[in-house]
Amino acid sequence: MKIETLGFLQCVAVSQNIRCHGKLQFKDSSKLVCRTCDTEYPIKNDIPYLVLGEDFDSRYLDPSMIRSYYEMQFAPYIQ
Ligand SMILES: [Zn+2]
Repeated sequence: MKIETLGFLQCVAVSQNIRCHGKLQFKDSSKLVCRTCDTEYPIKNDIPYLVLGEDFDSRYLDPSMIRSYYEMQFAPYIQ
C-alpha cells in the first residue's frame, strides 16, 4: 500500500445509520485499523480493502478491480 494514500482513506463502518469517517492507521503490515471505532481492514497485495463483512466473492471485489479503483483514485499521489 502506498503510504501517501493513507491520509485520504476513511473508515466506512456504519453504526446507527451514521458512517464513522474515522482516520485509519496501520495495525500491522497486513491491516489498517480505524482510530475511532477500531474496525479493521485487510491489505492484500498492497491494496487496502475498505470493505465491510466477508463478501469478498463479489465480482466487484475481484483483486484486479480493487487495484484498478485504488490506482485510478490515487494516481496523482502514487505515480
Ligand atoms: Zn471507524
